[in-house]
Amino acid sequence: MNVRDFTFDHYGRLLDAALDNGYTFYTLHDYVTRSDHDSPYIIVRHDVDRKVGTARSMARVEAERDVSTSYYFRTSTFSPETVAEVSELGHEVGYHYEDLAKTRGDFEAAHERFGRNLARFREHVDVTTICPHGSPLSPHHNLDMWRGEYTIEDYDLLAEAYLSVDTGNDDDAIPSYVSDTGRDWGTDVAGFGRISTTDDLIAGLGSGGCERLYLLVHPGRWSRNPAEHLQRVAWDLAAEAGKSTARTVHSIGRTSSDRIARAMRERV
Ligand SMILES: [Zn+2]
Repeated sequence: MNVRDFTFDHYGRLLDAALDNGYTFYTLHDYVTRSDHDSPYIIVRHDVDRKVGTARSMARVEAERDVSTSYYFRTSTFSPETVAEVSELGHEVGYHYEDLAKTRGDFEAAHERFGRNLARFREHVDVTTICPHGSPLSPHHNLDMWRGEYTIEDYDLLAEAYLSVDTGNDDDAIPSYVSDTGRDWGTDVAGFGRISTTDDLIAGLGSGGCERLYLLVHPGRWSRNPAEHLQRVAWDLAAEAGKSTARTVHSIGRTSSDRIARAMRERV
């Protein structure tokens, strides 16, 4: 665990390093709707699992630098005020869905719930992309909602965060998937090497070896100031104790999306 990492100071430096090295930032919506992409580029996705205040602060840190990213809200972290603020700052707002877990695997009920929640979000903000929540306590994988007869197009959606973006850490043509799950970026990128700390990632951005990146950043894992940082480290140490049982399901966040997509295809 990187005890001193994952503060807003690190995040600001990460954004600055990307900008200084000529990276174009894409929201997921922008990425999937463009036929060609600038090089180098970085797609940034935020899963807002908890701590909405931190997400709002992160949205401002990015907007100060004219950077637009994608924020995915659960029904528990969504509010009309929050999404209005985040989208006014220039960011994309999407639905962080967990309907299959919430309906305990009932496929039809999950789609009914999904449609209802999406419609509620859309009363306040334009939603064109979605992303599954890991639901660590549930045996059901929310991504499985798209195994079967329903497609995201049925809901007038343009992209699903895993299924619509090909990633691969040893293929130069597609983005490397790098996630802060576990508070360690935990990725090997061909052309750069091991990325563990935020400083490694910053070095990667300056190396010319990571020209296409798809970054998952959980705002709730980052701290805005030293007091919050201490609190967060204590929380982590406590959570570490109960983590092993949930590890299998948590691993969805660390698995590259092409592997998930392949797994999906095999099950369809
Ligand atoms: Zn989540």
